Amino acid sequence: MTTLWGGLEAGGTKFVCAVGSGPDDIRAEARFPTTTPAETLARAIAFFREQVDQLGPLAAIGVGSFGPVDPDPASPHYGYITTTPKPGWKNTDVVGPLRAAFGVPVGFDTDVNGAVLGEARWGAARGLANAVYFTIGTGIGGGAILNGRLAHGLVHPEMGHMLLRRDPARDPYVGHCPYHGDCWEGLSAGPALEERYGVKAETFGPDHPAWDLEAHYVAQALMNVICILSPERIILGGGVMGQAHLFPRIHREVQTLLNGYVQHAAILERIAAYIVAPGLGTRSGILGAFALAEQALADA
Ligand code: ADP
Ligand code: ZN
Repeated sequence: MTTLWGGLEAGGTKFVCAVGSGPDDIRAEARFPTTTPAETLARAIAFFREQVDQLGPLAAIGVGSFGPVDPDPASPHYGYITTTPKPGWKNTDVVGPLRAAFGVPVGFDTDVNGAVLGEARWGAARGLANAVYFTIGTGIGGGAILNGRLAHGLVHPEMGHMLLRRDPARDPYVGHCPYHGDCWEGLSAGPALEERYGVKAETFGPDHPAWDLEAHYVAQALMNVICILSPERIILGGGVMGQAHLFPRIHREVQTLLNGYVQHAAILERIAAYIVAPGLGTRSGILGAFALAEQALADA
């Protein structure tokens, strides 16, 4: 009998729920808008309950959530979405209702930690013990696996908010982050591109000047991550990275910025296989939730 996972990708605009055992075996899936916590969590629970009736019990459930979240099992607010600015969602217990409804282990982490775990299990970082995943979309988030485990600390990494160098002569735009102005997310996420140029980034052609600047900022952030964590692979997903021409620009710019300092063939000779698109395409999030479920069962 196949072990079935419940996966929940809890996003700020939509929830995706699925039941299955892996990328080639997704038995059922549902997506619905993120409304109030009570209504949205009830819909997720109703979906899983229906699947349990039809397919049999879930071995565990995994949740990759928008944040910030509390991923510390020893904390009284473990499993909560904590200080989010999203109306109505501050201090929302996500794990509690799922655990109460199904009585199985529930894995819980940031959406991007889930995504990097899914990519390491089935995707572009398969078999690697050190990898980083970024989404560059409405915001920028980063998840990391270090020595085979997801990176946590005080809370969880917030790599999207790292500070970069901005040359005001080249880029007078002061940035979009409500906390930091011109942090990486403030300069490079989709809404920053839209505000800097006055139209949605989807409408820019590949020769638009936005892209060299974008590659420059992304490359600065990746240089920092390479210097701090020494990941074996970096995966870049999210809506903005739908602009596939960004990859070669980022590859060149990372090499230029590092300037030969990290003497490894992965960077000097094979950078196109080092900084890559998600192997799971747009499914890193939901498959990451399966991987969080699998990990929760193993850790239980
Ligand atoms: P979210 O981050 O909300 O989960 P996405 O990853 O799709 O969702 O990111 C949405 C953001 O990415 C929007 O700001 C949008 O303008 C931008 N975006 C989406 N698709 C593209 C594209 N093909 N090219 C450039 N920007 C895009
Ligand atoms: Zn910021």
